[in-house]
Amino acid sequence: PYNGPLADEVFQKRKKFLGPSLFHYYQKPVNIVEGKMQYLFDENGKRYLDAFAGIVTVSCGHCHPDVLSAIIEQSKLLQHATTIYLHHAIADYAEALASKMPGNLKVVYFVNSGSEANELAMLMARLYSGNLGMISLRNAYHGGSSSTIGLTALKTWKYPIPEHISVVSSINKTSDMPVLFKLFSWLTGEIHHVVNPDPYRGVFGSDAKLYAKDVQDHIDYGSSGNVAGFIAETIQGVGGAVELAPGYLKLVYDIVRKAGGVCIADEVQTGFGRTGSHYWGFETQGVIPDIVTMAKGIGNGLPLGAVVTTPEIASVLAQKIQFNTFGGNPVCSAGGLAVLRVIDKEKRQAHCNDVGSHLLERLRALQQKHEIIGDVRGRGLMVGVELVTDRKEKMPAKEETGVLFEKLRELGVLIGKGGLHGNVFRIKPPMCFTKDDADFLVDALDYAVSKLRGVRVSSNAGRRLSLIRLKAAEEPREPLVYIVSLASATHPAFYYKSSLGIINHHGVTFRC
Ligand code: PMP
Repeated sequence: PYNGPLADEVFQKRKKFLGPSLFHYYQKPVNIVEGKMQYLFDENGKRYLDAFAGIVTVSCGHCHPDVLSAIIEQSKLLQHATTIYLHHAIADYAEALASKMPGNLKVVYFVNSGSEANELAMLMARLYSGNLGMISLRNAYHGGSSSTIGLTALKTWKYPIPEHISVVSSINKTSDMPVLFKLFSWLTGEIHHVVNPDPYRGVFGSDAKLYAKDVQDHIDYGSSGNVAGFIAETIQGVGGAVELAPGYLKLVYDIVRKAGGVCIADEVQTGFGRTGSHYWGFETQGVIPDIVTMAKGIGNGLPLGAVVTTPEIASVLAQKIQFNTFGGNPVCSAGGLAVLRVIDKEKRQAHCNDVGSHLLERLRALQQKHEIIGDVRGRGLMVGVELVTDRKEKMPAKEETGVLFEKLRELGVLIGKGGLHGNVFRIKPPMCFTKDDADFLVDALDYAVSKLRGVRVSSNAGRRLSLIRLKAAEEPREPLVYIVSLASATHPAFYYKSSLGIINHHGVTFRC
C-alpha cells in the first residue's frame, strides 16, 4: 500500500513551488504512484489502463524489467563521468542505434530531450545549408525551447512578446496579436508554416501535390529562394494523430533539397516500431531524411534524446565543439540499448501492427454506431479519434470530448487529448498493450458515449441553427446549459435559457 502524500497535498505543493504554466489533466488530478507495463496505479491502488504512455514516452512498458535492470546495474557501477572520458556504453548504444537507420544515417548525437534534439538538428541544417529559413507544418509540435517554439505551429504554446521589449511597446496587445506572433517568429528565426497535409481537415483533402505546391510557393515567394531545412513528423502527435497525405514527404523532400535545404524527420513519437508497419514513421512515406530526431520512447521514460545524421552533415559541427554534459551518459545509454533490445526481443513492431489493426477496426465499427465520432485514423499504436458535433461541417465536439475524457478516467482508462481544437482522443499506449486492452478501451468509450445526452438541431427556414450542449451532462439530474447559435453572418447568435427550454431571438423554443 502507498503511504506517501495524497493528491490534494501534492497539488497544493505543485501550485506553490512549480511554475504557473504547468498544466494537468482531469478536473480532479490523478496522483499516479506506480506503473507496471501498460497499467498505472493511483494513491488508492486503483488501476488504470494507460492509453497515453506518459505522452507516448513509455515504449516497452512502465518499469519494464529488462530496462530497469540495465539502468540499475549501470547505476551501481558508474552514473556519470561525461564524454571527455571513454565509456563503452555510449559507443555500444550509438552503434546499435545507427544499425536501425537506413541509408547513410550513421552519425549519432545524444541529448536529453526532444526539444534539444530538434534545436541541434536545426543548427546543423542552418550550418550545412548556409541558409536561415526553416519550414514546418501548421499544427506541428517540435518543442518548447526558445528556437523550437518557432517550429511549433500551435497557438497554445506561443507566447506573446513581453511589453518591455521596446520594438513592440507601441503595439496594442489585444488587437495586434497576429503581429506579435509574427514578431515572435522573427526572433526565433525565419520559419515558414506551410499548409498542413491533413486528409481529414485539410483544404486539399489527400492531394499531396497541392499541399507540396504550398511549400514551393513559400520558397518562391516568401524566402530568398533557399531554405535551411524542412521538419515534419509523419503522424503529428500533439496535433492529434494527423497522418500526412500519402506521397507528401517524397514531393516535399525533392522541393526542399532543390532549394538547398535538408530534410528532418521528427521521430520523437512515431519511431521505434510504434506505427507497426515500419520501424520509423518516415518509412511509411518511402523517404530517407537527412537528419532524424528522437526522444520520448527511445528511453522508455529516461531523459534521453538523439539526433542521427550523415557523416557529411555532421562534419559541419566539427568546426567547433558540440558538447552535452549528460547526453549519452552511461545510465541513459544502458537504458536506451536495453529498449532497442526489448523492442526486437518482444517483436514489438509486429505486435503494434497486430494490436493497432484490431484497435482501428473496433474504433471504426464504433464510428458506425456513434455520430459523434467523425474520424478514426492512425497506424499501429499511434491512433486518433476525432469527435465532431456534425460530420458534414466537422464542428469540433470540444465540450463532449472533455466530458468523455473525465468519464474514461472514471472507468479506468487514461487517454490523451489534443488536436488543433482539443477534440481528438490520442491513443498511444505502451507498446505491450494487448488486444484485450484495446477491447476494454473501446468498450469503455462506447459506454461513455452512450451516456452522453444532448441534441444538435439543424435547419430552420433555410438557416442553420445549432443547439450546442455547453456543459454536456451525463445523468438526467445534472443541469444542462445550452447555447443556441445561428449560423448566419448577418444575425449574431442570441440565446437564453428558460425552464421550458431555450428560446432564440426568433422565438423558437427548444425543449430540453
Ligand atoms: N517533437 C515532438 C513530435 C514531440 O511530441 C515533442 C514533445 N511532445 C517534442 C518534439 C519535444 O520533446 P521534449 O518535450 O522532450 O522536449
